[in-house]
Amino acid sequence: MSKKKKIALLGATGSIGVNALHCVNNAPEEFDVVALSTHKRVDLLLQQTRQYQPKFVAVTGRPLSDSERLEFKNLGATVFSGQGGIVQLAETAEYDLLVNAVVGAAGFLPTLSAIDRRADIALANKETLVIGGQVVMQKIKSAGVKLLPIDSEHSAIFQCLIGENYDDIEKILLTASGGPFRNTPIEDFKNITVEQALNHPNWNMGKKITIDSATMMNKGLEVIEAHWLFGVDIDKIEVVIHPQSIIHSMVAFHDGSIKAQLGMPDMRVPIQLAMTFPQRRPSDFPRVDWNTLKELTFDKPDLQKFHCLALAFAAMRAGGTAPAVMNAANEIAVARFLDQQISFVHIAQFIEKAIEAHEYCASPDVQTLLAADHWARQFTAALK
Ligand code: NDP
Ligand code: MG
Repeated sequence: MSKKKKIALLGATGSIGVNALHCVNNAPEEFDVVALSTHKRVDLLLQQTRQYQPKFVAVTGRPLSDSERLEFKNLGATVFSGQGGIVQLAETAEYDLLVNAVVGAAGFLPTLSAIDRRADIALANKETLVIGGQVVMQKIKSAGVKLLPIDSEHSAIFQCLIGENYDDIEKILLTASGGPFRNTPIEDFKNITVEQALNHPNWNMGKKITIDSATMMNKGLEVIEAHWLFGVDIDKIEVVIHPQSIIHSMVAFHDGSIKAQLGMPDMRVPIQLAMTFPQRRPSDFPRVDWNTLKELTFDKPDLQKFHCLALAFAAMRAGGTAPAVMNAANEIAVARFLDQQISFVHIAQFIEKAIEAHEYCASPDVQTLLAADHWARQFTAALK
């Protein structure tokens, strides 16, 4: 019998994390879950700890009560607490694959630690590459480990590129559903409520990425993610609106041929592939029904309405600290929108202000990136 793959799963209690554990259930003979983390949902982490018996857990977002601590101890799990807990976990546990399903900039440092440990990475946390794509890709290369995308678009591109020469790429066609406000007139954007923005037509995801999808910042983050993952120039990445979310992305080659990857919008497909790669495991995930699917349609993104997408292209072209500042400003602006402190249209405005005001550095190291992130959070939190 072949050896089980040891998995450390950060963000186990989130939408991607829970789906990653579904994939473990789908192939229990293949995986050994050795580490799990949560920010605040300790009850769910305890339940997962009972089921998967990891040796290490991390709780980053709140202190544990004595009884919770005792329960983890009785279950045989060592606990790391506080925001540094996921870095300690990544530095301490023994694993073959780090599944990074944390949301936000918090995912950056544990990714670096896991690469230093020579583990492969299955990456859902796109913010890692937005903040420090250059540093991460250099480290991945020198460590000789794999970076496997979980984001559905990037999984699609990755699959289209199997067996291909990357020099033959003419364009990456990154598909986007367009989110809930694709057909909403720009005049109505100022009245968009949190409830409306959280109502994504095709995907059921965590709150932050759902708002990012509504502003289309998600697609902006994904453009930057694609640039780093596949080493493709930003001018060769085109966003295509495809409301049905059946084509998960495409690659156009310079002989005029285009490859696409299709499937139902179900994150378990790309999560499982990243976890089992290079194998494809059978699954009972939903299939496309070609008798009911009547059309696949395409459109251009409206960059006036979705200013965040334009900001992301500009930040990527500027490079250096600009994407890290954009990302941090976005995280704070989205949290303030969810908290009903600011309106939907303020999100893009605040990000733009932060990018304009920041002290730009062209070739930042990790400390400079973290300082830029920190500055942008404080700046955006204080904006009125
Ligand atoms: P969720 O909000 O559902 O889950 C996030 C996870 O990270 C939870 O376990 C959460 O803990 C934990 N967490 C939250 N804040 C912190 C922090 N500061 N430090 C450490 N851990 C933290 O998000 P999603 O699962 O939707 O998304 C996770 C990542 O995957 C994001 O980067 C997103 O962009 C990306 N992604 C998600 C997709 C999806 O379908 N959901 C699709 C493609 C990419 P707690 O449960 O306590 O809040
Ligand atoms: Mg995506």
